[in-house]
Amino acid sequence: QRKHKVAVIGSGNWGTTVAKLVAESTCEHPGIFEEDVQMWVYEEKVTIPKDSPHYDASVGEEPQNLTSIINKHHENVKYLPKIALPSNVVANPSLQDAVKDATVLIFNFPHDFIHSILKQMKGHILPYARGISCIKGVTVTDDKIELICEHIGDTLGIYCGALSGANIASEIANEEWCETTIAYNTPPCDIRATNGASNGASNGNGASNGNGEHKDSRGQISRTKLVPLPQEYPPLDHEEFYKLFSRPYFTVSMVSDVVGVSLGGALKNIVAIACGFVEGHGWNMTAKTAVMRRGMLEIIAFAREFFPETIQEKTLWEESAGWGDMIVSCTAARNWRYSKMAVERGVSVQEIERTELNGQKLQGISTSREVSSFLRAKGLEEHYPLFKAVELILDQKIKVEEIPNLFRK
Ligand code: NAD
Ligand code: 13P
Repeated sequence: QRKHKVAVIGSGNWGTTVAKLVAESTCEHPGIFEEDVQMWVYEEKVTIPKDSPHYDASVGEEPQNLTSIINKHHENVKYLPKIALPSNVVANPSLQDAVKDATVLIFNFPHDFIHSILKQMKGHILPYARGISCIKGVTVTDDKIELICEHIGDTLGIYCGALSGANIASEIANEEWCETTIAYNTPPCDIRATNGASNGASNGNGASNGNGEHKDSRGQISRTKLVPLPQEYPPLDHEEFYKLFSRPYFTVSMVSDVVGVSLGGALKNIVAIACGFVEGHGWNMTAKTAVMRRGMLEIIAFAREFFPETIQEKTLWEESAGWGDMIVSCTAARNWRYSKMAVERGVSVQEIERTELNGQKLQGISTSREVSSFLRAKGLEEHYPLFKAVELILDQKIKVEEIPNLFRK
């Protein structure tokens, strides 16, 4: 029997952390997964600082390729410093080489780069590969909105689920306990017979068997016809993804609601920015609580409005990808921290992203713009006052203290 080859596409703060944890799991499940995990790195030159144990006086301040540093020292000194990576994480500067022959593709990069990355991957992956997107964001074109995982699936002609939760990369990389949620609807064509029936028995997704059909996030038969995962590989179902992602310090909950998991992760970044704004302005917990509560109501309203057939609201209430992520994002994560700093310093969040983040990205800025332009195109902007306030403040059109005005009747 063949084994699944795993590739992580992206090597930022979260990308590297997820590569670490899945590389630990592949060693624990050698019957299912190949041990080595490919990690695609957007190549750049990096200088190892003098106080790093990896500093080499003979190289000095000479910038080196990030991939060479990672493969030599097993540390991503730029995006996840001071965390030892397992030696079976293999940094690869070639995207096409990293994903070659991989049956499991883990997408983990800032969503701003999605179009160029997918374009480079197209035609270079196995037709029966399966994906998990750890990206928090949405894709908007004109008046159309897509979940990132579905955009990936449709563009590459594969099925892709979503992972999201209350997950601060540096804490998880330090193996502090946390939880996450993975939404995956095993395509009917991948379901293995258990009692002598042929491959492709229905899994309750509704779509019928081995012809490659599956349902999209709006409950319709997807335009994308899937190539079934060949029988010589172990199955890829909840059990295998659980084994791949779960660690003693990373508790995984497997669900089927890709809409709740994806929208919870994407839209909370807008709310986190709003929380940073009000706190940076000097308001405290009561204002932040109002922002979080109203933010969650707008997320739920958005999901009901645009994914009415499929949203399972319980995901937002009960899962780490819902309220859990909202709480951590509004109290400890980057979108909150750096938008607070922006208000405190009287500069734009975009400026802070440029000067303070050493290449990391604030997903809330682009998500706010994308969601606002989508809502404007639909004529529904006024129904989402908190989302609207964040865009207006990012564009310096209103001040933080004007937020409550948007809620007055
Ligand atoms: P990051 O913020 O560390 O972003 C930096 C990454 O972007 C680097 O890998 C860099 O090489 C890459 N990059 C820069 N320019 C690029 C280009 N032109 N093309 C391609 N790549 C380029 O990224 P991250 O923290 O790994 O976040 C990835 C996703 O995971 C995001 O959607 C984020 O919301 C989500 N997420 C992050 C965390 C976290 O704690 N960091 C936790 C959960 C989810
Ligand atoms: P930031 O990108 O704001 O750090 O959010 C990380 C996250 O998604 C927490 O769950």
